[in-house]
Formats: sequence, C-alpha cells, structure tokens
Amino acid sequence: MNYVNPNFVLMVEGLTVSFDGFKAVNDLSFYVEPNECRVIIGPNGAGKTTVLDLICGRTKATEGSVKFKGQELLKMREDQIVHAGVGRKFQTPSVYEDLTVFENLEISYPKGHGVFGALAFKRDLEVIERIEQITQTIFLTDALDEKAAYLSHGQKQWLEIGMLLIQDPELLMLDEPVAGMSVAERKKTAELLNRIIQDRSVIVIEHDMKFVEDIATRVTVLHQGQILSEGTMEHVQADPKVVEVYLGH
Ligand code: ADP
Ligand code: MG
Repeated sequence: MNYVNPNFVLMVEGLTVSFDGFKAVNDLSFYVEPNECRVIIGPNGAGKTTVLDLICGRTKATEGSVKFKGQELLKMREDQIVHAGVGRKFQTPSVYEDLTVFENLEISYPKGHGVFGALAFKRDLEVIERIEQITQTIFLTDALDEKAAYLSHGQKQWLEIGMLLIQDPELLMLDEPVAGMSVAERKKTAELLNRIIQDRSVIVIEHDMKFVEDIATRVTVLHQGQILSEGTMEHVQADPKVVEVYLGH
C-alpha cells in the first residue's frame, strides 16, 4: 500500500525491534482503517504478539513509527496509550475472580474526577446504564451478579473484552481471543466482534481460520517479523507463499 489515507486510525511504519540482535519484528508497515477488523495470522514465533506489545508500549521499539490518529505512540508510556484510546487484551483472561460481572465492569469504568452530590448520582446512573449495555453485547446479561470465578472460560474472555469496551477504545487489540473456546462460543465471539467494529477498529491475532473468515476485513500474514502477504481472506488464502509457510501445515 503506497497511498496515504489521512483517515487511517493506525499507521505502522518501519517498525523494528531487536532482541540482542534478533529482529523479532523487522521493518514492518501496515495501516488500519476505521471500523476495520484486521486479523494477524502466521506461524508460532512470527512476531504477532510482539507487534501488539510494541503498539501498546509494553515493549520498546528499536526503530520505526506507530501513529494512532496522528499521535506517535512510540514516544508515549503504556498508560498514556491506553488513555489515548488503545485497549489491549492479553492471551490469558485476567478478570477479578472474587468480584461479580457487574463489579468487574464497574471497576473498569474510566474514572472521572471531582463529582459530588447530584452529579455523582447522575454519574452512577450513567455507569449502570453503560454496564447493562455492555453486558448485552458480551452475552452476560443473565450473569450480572455472578462471581467471575463461576463463569466458563469463554465467558471470562467476553467479560475481559467488556472491561475493555467500557473504556470505549477507538482501537482494540485482542491476542487469540477464541483459544480454548467451544465452537458455539467462537461463533458468538465472531458476532460480538462484528458488532463492536461498528464503533471502532480491532486488531486480532488468531489461528482458527474459520473464525478469521467470519471476522476479518483484511488479513496480514506475518512470517519472521515481516509481512508475507496481506489482503482479503480470499487473497491470502490463495497466495502460494502463505500456503507454503502457514496454511499448508
Ligand atoms: P508469535 O506471537 O507470533 O508466536 P512472538 O511475538 O511471541 O511470536 O515472538 C516472536 C519471536 O520473538 C520469538 O522468537 C520469541 O522468542 C521472540 N521474543 C519475543 N519477546 C521477546 C523478548 N522480550 N526477548 C527476547 N525474545 C523475544
Ligand atoms: Mg503470540
């Protein structure tokens, strides 16, 4: 892609990280549009998780640029990046087991400052409304008062997505969200992602090709820290290079 679309939510250019001389991500460039669901696929060790670590500021890049709505993320701290509107979900679910679904969402609601009296009351209503809206999106309406410990693995994953959604990120990044889920849960997660990209962009790392087909706007195939192929699902699936290093196995 050589054109520059000013509407890109995320512009990654020449991104490189070197771990003791080993380039886990090597001169990577890709661009994400609003309301796009970009799926990153590729063999183990291709550098997929590292790309998300670089974008969210957890790992420091050696070179390159990551612009989110025009702001250079590589110069920002992890908390500043979250505040700017980039949410990130890690591979293992991390919800508070002893808290209910409602409470997990409540503590994830972005803190305002200095609200008192009637204003605080109005805010409480606002929070409750938002939590109800989110629990519908993540299929947990009937489990609002359930402790997270009693949820299934899939439901915990959805709850964690909900905890990110309540912060209303413009870019949401998910690392293998359907790993360990049943076929039915995968289907519902695809439905969930298709719903949430109405209001934001999503980057998903995934292996399950059926799931990828259900959600991807575009697919980026990573191999040895570089792009092997990129385009629609049909395009990358038909690419002989992709079949050779990834899909053929
Ligand atoms: P993927 O998610 O595609 O399976 P990763 O991004 O986790 O791959 O890893 C890419 C490569 O970078 C692997 O060879 C991994 O061992 C290496 N790597 C990742 N993080 C670090 C680190 N902090 N230090 C050294 N090597 C790392
Ligand atoms: Mg990974």
